[in-house]
Amino acid sequence: MNNDLKRAPLDGFDCDWLVIGSGFGGSVSALRLSEKGYRVGVLEIGRRFRDEGKTVPDPEKPNPTFIDVTNEAAEVLARDTGGVAQSMILEALGNVPTTAHILGGAVVAEGPERGVVDRHSRVFGYRNMLICDGSTVPANPGVNPSLTITAMSEHAMAQVPEAKAGWWSE
Ligand SMILES: Cc1cc2nc3c(=O)[nH]c(=O)nc-3n(C[C@H](O)[C@H](O)[C@H](O)COP(=O)(O)OP(=O)(O)OC[C@H]3O[C@@H](n4cnc5c(N)ncnc54)[C@H](O)[C@@H]3O)c2cc1C
Repeated sequence: MNNDLKRAPLDGFDCDWLVIGSGFGGSVSALRLSEKGYRVGVLEIGRRFRDEGKTVPDPEKPNPTFIDVTNEAAEVLARDTGGVAQSMILEALGNVPTTAHILGGAVVAEGPERGVVDRHSRVFGYRNMLICDGSTVPANPGVNPSLTITAMSEHAMAQVPEAKAGWWSE
């Protein structure tokens, strides 16, 4: 926790919802919740890029530089669509996996045995915890994802009742 946050006057502050992170998912969630009449707190850690924007590979578990099944899938898709399967130049020449679109991880599923959240982004096993960010986008769509993240967050927020309607019943 940075020093400014430690000094923040949080005593006596109360909220109905706490949104962690004010990115594409978090900011739209905070907006919609406040429009529904809730008191919303947003915790934002700040500084998006650390270590000058680089990620540091784990020497014991380096990123794979070639994934057979992904390569095969790309070739099948290219064949079926008349396209060309390609890698990015840094991947092909430098063995460096590269993306600005880090997505997935919190799988949307029918139940906890197969995933992390339900179709309304609610975490299995918790009544009022939602994940509204890129982790619920199942895989990299290959195009800019922020509008998809925003749309999925809008969908999740649309399921939350108005504050005056009382707390979530289901
Ligand atoms: C260089 C770059 C360029 C991009 N360009 C585009 C583009 O042109 N178009 C596009 O659609 N997408 C683009 N993307 C992708 C897009 O920015 C992300 O997919 C999107 O921001 C992800 O949204 P999110 O809500 O999941 O997370 P983010 O928008 O990353 O938000 C997460 C927030 O949580 C905060 N946070 C993290 N941990 C904590 C914590 N412990 N406590 C409190 N706060 C925390 C972070 O500081 C951040 O503000 C780009 C990404 C990068 C890196």
